[in-house]
Amino acid sequence: MDDSTYGKRNKRGDWSPFGRLEIAPVFVLPPKPLAFLKWLPGYFLPWNLIWAASAVAYWYLVVPAPEAMQSLALGWVLKLFLVNCVLVFLFYGAFELRLYILKAQANRFKYNGKFPSEHKNEAFLFSNQNLDGMIRGFGTGVPIWTAYEVLILWAYANGYVQWTGFAEHPLYLFALFLVLPIWHEAHFFCIHRLIHWAPLYKWIHSVHHNSVNPSPWSSLSMHPVEHLLYFSSSLIHLVVPSNPILAIYQLHYSGFGAVVGHIGFDKIEVTEDAAFDSHAYAHYLHHKFFEVNYGDGLVPLDQWFGTWHDGSPEGEERMNARYQKKVERMNRKAAKTTPAE
Ligand SMILES: [Zn+2]
Ligand SMILES: [Zn+2]
Repeated sequence: MDDSTYGKRNKRGDWSPFGRLEIAPVFVLPPKPLAFLKWLPGYFLPWNLIWAASAVAYWYLVVPAPEAMQSLALGWVLKLFLVNCVLVFLFYGAFELRLYILKAQANRFKYNGKFPSEHKNEAFLFSNQNLDGMIRGFGTGVPIWTAYEVLILWAYANGYVQWTGFAEHPLYLFALFLVLPIWHEAHFFCIHRLIHWAPLYKWIHSVHHNSVNPSPWSSLSMHPVEHLLYFSSSLIHLVVPSNPILAIYQLHYSGFGAVVGHIGFDKIEVTEDAAFDSHAYAHYLHHKFFEVNYGDGLVPLDQWFGTWHDGSPEGEERMNARYQKKVERMNRKAAKTTPAE
């Protein structure tokens, strides 16, 4: 496909889409019903539908019978962990293989003109972005993800939380299914904003930001404390009446969905003239500029807090003006604390 009809490339070879990133027309006043209807298919396609399908398949093919999960036996816990490892390897690996190893679409639609393998970075474990991501992902990411999963399934199996059935409450559970991505986004925004607070950033979140040019294995390249916070969105299923399949959906949304913001390409080509949108640009801009787009624009929290970057020159100006103000604030603070000579 010709990416120049969808965006432009600068001198460095970085590609950016025409137009600007739009906040989802969900929490907007006045309501925009037409824009909402136009936006709606993209809410399901392709990602949310994939996580929904994977959650259902996982429930029927992988999760043992509730009676078996009433006790925390090593067998089923280990099985879930190993299956999660294999699925992450295959899913993340598929994007890595196609886009970064085989380079099936070269750098068409690629935000950063360079591939991570072209530049070494000492900040990574073994100075290698992929190895770093895999070690952190499989070392603490998938174990913590599985720990939440086991805790939730065990609680359902023992009747410690309310197990709402699809047969009895289909509408309620469908509504919950629709709301969960919004919950994920609000939760993610809050924990993400928290770990951008300087002391926590240095200790925890700087690990994730080593990937300035993110690629699929950057997705779970996080400090273990960030993994703990990130996957904790699933705990909502211990609080509100829900169903274990929706809890798994939530975990797949977080675990597999993490790859979405780190694909590094705006469109994934499927055939020579067909492609689907990755929805990765907002989070790519976060990795590029750090203090913008703490969320992905589903809930307009960034807009409300003035940290939204829509990819336009005006967005860039707003960001620079904000940085300038921050520098002035810090200088004033420093001048106050430094005794006059
Ligand atoms: Zn990221
Ligand atoms: Zn961040």
